[in-house]
Amino acid sequence: MVRIDYKVCNRCGGAKEKRCERICPGDLIGVNPEDDRPVVLYPQDCWACTACVKDCPVSAISLRLPFQILGKETSLKASVKGRKTYCVVEGEGGKKEEFEIEVIQNGTLRRKD
Ligand code: SF4
Ligand code: SF4
Repeated sequence: MVRIDYKVCNRCGGAKEKRCERICPGDLIGVNPEDDRPVVLYPQDCWACTACVKDCPVSAISLRLPFQILGKETSLKASVKGRKTYCVVEGEGGKKEEFEIEVIQNGTLRRKD
């Protein structure tokens, strides 16, 4: 499930079309016209592709990972700089793991520890 931190989200600087809205391949994100906030309209249809997580310019979006995978209250945040994606996984008790993934050729991904 995707969560948007509205204290961090800057509404893409007031842009009419938000980046998270534009990039979601399932058109699951919309904007509330009353307060210009992005909203996940159909959370049940989100397949956790992380496109919105990586594309948000201020890292306001995180993905809550199913507890079956990594434990209760685990979240993933990510940001993209050039060919690298920087990821932070935060688990119970604030335990954090950070790693980066680099695109090395034609979409091939390599995790760097
Ligand atoms: S991309 Fe990030 S900053 Fe822009 S509207 Fe979405 S959550 Fe907010
Ligand atoms: S994780 Fe993927 S499918 Fe889910 S809301 Fe974000 S962009 Fe859409």
